[in-house]
Amino acid sequence: MKYEGMIFRPPSEAESLILQVTVGCSYNRCTFCGAYQGKRFRIKSIEEIKEDIDEASAYRIRRVFLADGDALIIPQKELLQILSYLRKRLRGLDRVGIYANAKDILLKGIEELKALRDLGVGIIYLGLESGDPEVLKRIKKNATVDQLIRAGKRVKESGILLSVTVILGLGGVEGSQAHAQETAKVLSEMDPDYVGALSLMIVPGTPIEREIETGKLILPTPFGLIQELETMIENSHMTRCFFASNHASNYLPLRIQLPEEKEDVLRRIREVLQRKDPALLRPEYLRAL
Ligand code: SF4
Repeated sequence: MKYEGMIFRPPSEAESLILQVTVGCSYNRCTFCGAYQGKRFRIKSIEEIKEDIDEASAYRIRRVFLADGDALIIPQKELLQILSYLRKRLRGLDRVGIYANAKDILLKGIEELKALRDLGVGIIYLGLESGDPEVLKRIKKNATVDQLIRAGKRVKESGILLSVTVILGLGGVEGSQAHAQETAKVLSEMDPDYVGALSLMIVPGTPIEREIETGKLILPTPFGLIQELETMIENSHMTRCFFASNHASNYLPLRIQLPEEKEDVLRRIREVLQRKDPALLRPEYLRAL
Protein backbone atom coordinates (compact mmCIF):
# COMPACT_ATOMS: atom_id res chain seq x y z
CA MET A 1 0.00 0.00 0.00
CA LYS A 2 1.33 3.41 -0.88
CA TYR A 3 0.61 5.69 2.06
CA GLU A 4 1.52 9.37 2.00
CA GLY A 5 2.36 10.92 5.39
CA MET A 6 0.81 9.98 8.71
CA ILE A 7 -2.39 7.97 8.54
CA PHE A 8 -5.23 8.42 11.04
CA ARG A 9 -8.22 6.19 11.60
CA PRO A 10 -10.95 5.87 14.23
CA PRO A 11 -10.12 3.44 17.08
CA SER A 12 -12.94 1.14 15.92
CA GLU A 13 -11.22 0.68 12.54
CA ALA A 14 -8.13 -0.89 14.10
CA GLU A 15 -8.70 -4.18 12.26
CA SER A 16 -9.61 -2.59 8.93
CA LEU A 17 -7.55 -2.19 5.83
CA ILE A 18 -6.79 1.52 5.56
CA LEU A 19 -7.13 2.56 1.96
CA GLN A 20 -5.84 6.08 1.38
CA VAL A 21 -8.06 7.58 -1.31
CA THR A 22 -7.40 11.23 -0.51
CA VAL A 23 -4.32 12.89 0.92
CA GLY A 24 -4.95 15.35 3.77
CA CYS A 25 -8.16 17.20 4.54
CA SER A 26 -9.99 19.35 2.00
CA TYR A 27 -10.61 21.97 4.71
CA ASN A 28 -7.63 21.64 7.08
CA ARG A 29 -8.32 24.80 9.10
CA CYS A 30 -9.85 23.65 12.40
CA THR A 31 -7.74 25.44 14.99
CA PHE A 32 -7.11 22.38 17.20
CA CYS A 33 -6.29 19.89 14.45
CA GLY A 34 -2.76 19.02 13.54
CA ALA A 35 -3.54 15.75 11.80
CA TYR A 36 -2.82 16.86 8.26
CA GLN A 37 -0.52 19.83 8.82
CA GLY A 38 1.73 20.28 5.83
CA LYS A 39 -0.23 17.85 3.64
CA ARG A 40 -1.49 19.39 0.46
CA PHE A 41 -4.98 18.05 -0.22
CA ARG A 42 -5.56 15.90 -3.26
CA ILE A 43 -7.81 13.10 -4.38
CA LYS A 44 -5.75 10.14 -5.52
CA SER A 45 -6.22 8.98 -9.10
CA ILE A 46 -8.43 5.98 -9.68
CA GLU A 47 -5.39 4.13 -11.09
CA GLU A 48 -3.40 4.67 -7.87
CA ILE A 49 -6.36 3.51 -5.79
CA LYS A 50 -6.98 0.44 -7.93
CA GLU A 51 -3.33 -0.58 -7.59
CA ASP A 52 -3.68 -0.56 -3.79
CA ILE A 53 -6.94 -2.52 -3.96
CA ASP A 54 -5.31 -5.08 -6.27
CA GLU A 55 -2.48 -5.49 -3.78
CA ALA A 56 -4.94 -5.95 -0.92
CA SER A 57 -6.96 -8.52 -2.85
CA ALA A 58 -4.35 -11.15 -1.97
CA TYR A 59 -5.70 -11.09 1.61
CA ARG A 60 -9.04 -11.84 3.16
CA ILE A 61 -10.36 -8.41 4.15
CA ARG A 62 -13.67 -7.81 5.85
CA ARG A 63 -13.48 -4.11 6.54
CA VAL A 64 -11.99 -1.16 4.76
CA PHE A 65 -11.57 2.38 6.04
CA LEU A 66 -11.20 5.14 3.45
CA ALA A 67 -8.63 7.74 4.53
CA ASP A 68 -7.58 10.61 4.86
CA GLY A 69 -9.48 13.36 6.66
CA ASP A 70 -12.73 13.72 4.76
CA ALA A 71 -12.75 11.18 1.95
CA LEU A 72 -16.49 11.73 1.44
CA ILE A 73 -15.53 14.91 -0.43
CA ILE A 74 -14.71 12.69 -3.43
CA PRO A 75 -17.27 13.33 -6.20
CA GLN A 76 -20.02 10.73 -6.26
CA LYS A 77 -19.07 9.20 -9.60
CA GLU A 78 -15.49 8.46 -8.50
CA LEU A 79 -16.58 7.24 -5.09
CA LEU A 80 -19.00 4.77 -6.68
CA GLN A 81 -16.20 3.59 -8.94
CA ILE A 82 -13.91 3.00 -5.94
CA LEU A 83 -16.61 1.15 -4.02
CA SER A 84 -17.55 -1.01 -7.01
CA TYR A 85 -13.91 -1.97 -7.51
CA LEU A 86 -13.53 -2.78 -3.82
CA ARG A 87 -16.54 -5.11 -3.99
CA LYS A 88 -15.24 -6.75 -7.12
CA ARG A 89 -11.74 -7.41 -5.79
CA LEU A 90 -12.32 -8.01 -2.06
CA ARG A 91 -14.81 -10.84 -1.97
CA GLY A 92 -15.24 -11.02 1.82
CA LEU A 93 -15.81 -7.27 2.25
CA ASP A 94 -18.73 -6.45 4.50
CA ARG A 95 -18.22 -2.83 5.54
CA VAL A 96 -16.55 0.34 4.35
CA GLY A 97 -16.05 3.24 6.77
CA ILE A 98 -15.25 6.84 5.91
CA TYR A 99 -14.53 10.19 7.60
CA ALA A 100 -16.70 13.12 6.59
CA ASN A 101 -17.36 16.68 7.61
CA ALA A 102 -20.82 18.24 7.60
CA LYS A 103 -20.36 20.00 4.28
CA ASP A 104 -19.27 16.81 2.49
CA ILE A 105 -22.42 15.07 3.71
CA LEU A 106 -24.70 17.96 2.78
CA LEU A 107 -23.21 18.06 -0.71
CA LYS A 108 -24.66 14.59 -1.19
CA GLY A 109 -28.39 14.05 -1.49
CA ILE A 110 -30.11 11.30 0.44
CA GLU A 111 -30.31 9.12 -2.70
CA GLU A 112 -26.57 9.53 -3.23
CA LEU A 113 -25.87 8.42 0.32
CA LYS A 114 -28.17 5.44 -0.16
CA ALA A 115 -26.25 4.52 -3.32
CA LEU A 116 -23.02 4.55 -1.25
CA ARG A 117 -24.70 2.39 1.37
CA ASP A 118 -25.80 -0.08 -1.31
CA LEU A 119 -22.17 -0.38 -2.42
CA GLY A 120 -20.90 -1.10 1.07
CA VAL A 121 -20.51 2.16 3.02
CA GLY A 122 -21.70 1.06 6.43
CA ILE A 123 -20.47 3.81 8.73
CA ILE A 124 -19.69 7.53 8.47
CA TYR A 125 -17.53 9.24 11.10
CA LEU A 126 -18.51 12.86 11.58
CA GLY A 127 -16.56 15.34 13.71
CA LEU A 128 -19.07 17.39 15.69
CA GLU A 129 -16.49 18.47 18.29
CA SER A 130 -18.97 20.80 20.03
CA GLY A 131 -22.63 21.71 19.89
CA ASP A 132 -21.92 25.20 21.21
CA PRO A 133 -22.13 27.77 18.36
CA GLU A 134 -19.54 29.98 20.08
CA VAL A 135 -17.04 27.14 20.28
CA LEU A 136 -17.68 26.08 16.67
CA LYS A 137 -16.92 29.63 15.56
CA ARG A 138 -13.79 29.89 17.68
CA ILE A 139 -12.36 26.58 16.47
CA LYS A 140 -13.26 27.48 12.85
CA LYS A 141 -15.21 24.28 12.36
CA ASN A 142 -16.63 25.50 9.04
CA ALA A 143 -20.14 24.32 9.94
CA THR A 144 -23.03 25.68 11.98
CA VAL A 145 -24.99 23.72 14.56
CA ASP A 146 -27.86 23.50 12.09
CA GLN A 147 -25.63 22.13 9.32
CA LEU A 148 -24.09 19.58 11.66
CA ILE A 149 -27.50 18.37 12.81
CA ARG A 150 -28.83 18.17 9.25
CA ALA A 151 -25.73 16.26 8.16
CA GLY A 152 -26.02 13.79 11.03
CA LYS A 153 -29.71 13.22 10.38
CA ARG A 154 -29.14 12.71 6.67
CA VAL A 155 -26.62 9.96 7.35
CA LYS A 156 -29.07 8.22 9.66
CA GLU A 157 -31.90 8.57 7.18
CA SER A 158 -29.77 6.93 4.50
CA GLY A 159 -29.42 3.81 6.64
CA ILE A 160 -25.67 4.28 7.19
CA LEU A 161 -24.41 4.07 10.79
CA LEU A 162 -23.45 7.45 12.24
CA SER A 163 -20.47 7.82 14.54
CA VAL A 164 -19.88 11.27 16.02
CA THR A 165 -16.77 12.66 17.69
CA VAL A 166 -16.90 15.26 20.43
CA ILE A 167 -13.94 16.91 22.18
CA LEU A 168 -13.92 17.60 25.91
CA GLY A 169 -12.21 20.83 26.90
CA LEU A 170 -12.87 22.83 23.74
CA GLY A 171 -14.91 25.43 25.65
CA GLY A 172 -12.03 26.16 27.99
CA VAL A 173 -12.70 26.74 31.68
CA GLU A 174 -15.11 29.58 31.05
CA GLY A 175 -17.24 27.84 28.44
CA SER A 176 -16.89 24.35 29.89
CA GLN A 177 -20.46 23.72 31.01
CA ALA A 178 -22.06 25.49 28.02
CA HIS A 179 -19.93 23.33 25.71
CA ALA A 180 -21.02 20.15 27.47
CA GLN A 181 -24.70 21.09 27.62
CA GLU A 182 -24.97 22.34 24.03
CA THR A 183 -23.10 19.28 22.78
CA ALA A 184 -25.55 17.04 24.65
CA LYS A 185 -28.43 18.85 22.95
CA VAL A 186 -26.99 18.36 19.48
CA LEU A 187 -26.20 14.70 20.18
CA SER A 188 -29.81 14.19 21.27
CA GLU A 189 -31.05 15.75 18.03
CA MET A 190 -28.70 13.76 15.82
CA ASP A 191 -29.31 10.55 17.74
CA PRO A 192 -26.08 8.86 16.52
CA ASP A 193 -25.34 5.16 16.74
CA TYR A 194 -21.92 5.82 18.25
CA VAL A 195 -20.31 8.72 20.10
CA GLY A 196 -16.58 8.93 20.65
CA ALA A 197 -15.43 11.49 23.22
CA LEU A 198 -11.84 12.70 23.07
CA SER A 199 -10.11 15.13 25.42
CA LEU A 200 -8.40 18.16 23.95
CA MET A 201 -4.64 17.73 23.63
CA ILE A 202 -2.65 20.59 22.21
CA VAL A 203 -0.77 19.78 19.03
CA PRO A 204 2.33 21.98 18.60
CA GLY A 205 2.00 24.46 15.77
CA THR A 206 -1.80 24.59 15.76
CA PRO A 207 -3.62 27.94 16.21
CA ILE A 208 -5.18 26.73 19.46
CA GLU A 209 -1.68 26.40 20.94
CA ARG A 210 -1.30 30.16 20.52
CA GLU A 211 -4.64 30.74 22.29
CA ILE A 212 -3.36 28.73 25.24
CA GLU A 213 0.00 30.51 25.27
CA THR A 214 -1.63 33.95 25.27
CA GLY A 215 -4.14 32.96 27.95
CA LYS A 216 -7.13 33.41 25.62
CA LEU A 217 -8.11 29.83 26.33
CA ILE A 218 -7.56 28.11 29.65
CA LEU A 219 -7.83 24.35 29.63
CA PRO A 220 -10.05 22.69 32.24
CA THR A 221 -8.31 20.44 34.75
CA PRO A 222 -8.59 16.66 34.31
CA PHE A 223 -11.52 16.61 36.76
CA GLY A 224 -13.03 19.57 34.89
CA LEU A 225 -12.99 17.41 31.75
CA ILE A 226 -14.66 14.57 33.62
CA GLN A 227 -17.29 17.02 34.86
CA GLU A 228 -18.00 17.82 31.19
CA LEU A 229 -18.34 14.13 30.49
CA GLU A 230 -20.89 13.86 33.26
CA THR A 231 -22.91 16.82 31.98
CA MET A 232 -22.80 15.49 28.43
CA ILE A 233 -23.99 12.02 29.36
CA GLU A 234 -26.62 13.30 31.80
CA ASN A 235 -28.15 15.70 29.31
CA SER A 236 -28.05 13.62 26.14
CA HIS A 237 -31.02 11.48 25.24
CA MET A 238 -30.20 9.00 22.51
CA THR A 239 -32.47 6.12 21.58
CA ARG A 240 -29.68 3.57 21.14
CA CYS A 241 -26.07 4.66 21.27
CA PHE A 242 -22.72 3.19 22.13
CA PHE A 243 -20.79 5.93 23.94
CA ALA A 244 -17.04 5.56 24.34
CA SER A 245 -14.42 7.69 26.03
CA ASN A 246 -11.74 5.02 25.75
CA HIS A 247 -9.61 7.05 23.32
CA ALA A 248 -6.06 7.44 24.65
CA SER A 249 -6.52 11.20 25.20
CA ASN A 250 -9.11 10.67 27.96
CA TYR A 251 -8.53 10.53 31.70
CA LEU A 252 -11.53 8.30 32.38
CA PRO A 253 -12.06 5.54 29.82
CA LEU A 254 -15.67 4.41 29.49
CA ARG A 255 -17.56 2.15 27.09
CA ILE A 256 -21.27 2.21 27.68
CA GLN A 257 -24.56 1.52 26.03
CA LEU A 258 -27.03 4.40 26.30
CA PRO A 259 -29.62 4.78 27.62
CA GLU A 260 -29.43 1.40 29.43
CA GLU A 261 -26.25 2.10 31.42
CA LYS A 262 -26.74 5.83 31.93
CA GLU A 263 -27.57 5.82 35.64
CA ASP A 264 -24.79 3.37 36.49
CA VAL A 265 -22.15 5.32 34.66
CA LEU A 266 -23.29 8.65 36.11
CA ARG A 267 -22.98 7.15 39.57
CA ARG A 268 -19.44 6.02 38.73
CA ILE A 269 -18.42 9.39 37.30
CA ARG A 270 -19.85 11.24 40.31
CA GLU A 271 -17.88 9.04 42.66
CA VAL A 272 -14.67 9.89 40.76
CA LEU A 273 -15.58 13.60 40.91
CA GLN A 274 -16.25 13.38 44.61
CA ARG A 275 -13.06 11.53 45.49
CA LYS A 276 -10.86 13.63 43.18
CA ASP A 277 -8.15 11.01 43.48
CA PRO A 278 -5.63 11.29 40.60
CA ALA A 279 -4.94 7.54 40.98
CA LEU A 280 -8.39 6.93 39.45
CA LEU A 281 -7.35 8.63 36.20
CA ARG A 282 -5.27 7.53 33.24
CA PRO A 283 -1.76 8.85 33.99
CA GLU A 284 -0.62 11.82 31.94
CA TYR A 285 2.28 9.89 30.38
CA LEU A 286 -0.17 7.34 28.91
CA ARG A 287 -2.31 9.98 27.20
CA ALA A 288 -1.94 10.35 23.46
CA LEU A 289 -3.78 11.37 20.35
S1 SF4 B 1 -10.78 18.31 12.37
FE1 SF4 B 1 -11.39 17.23 10.51
S2 SF4 B 1 -12.25 18.83 9.17
FE2 SF4 B 1 -11.05 19.87 10.77
S3 SF4 B 1 -9.03 20.15 9.87
FE3 SF4 B 1 -8.95 18.23 11.04
S4 SF4 B 1 -9.45 16.65 9.56
FE4 SF4 B 1 -10.06 18.59 8.65
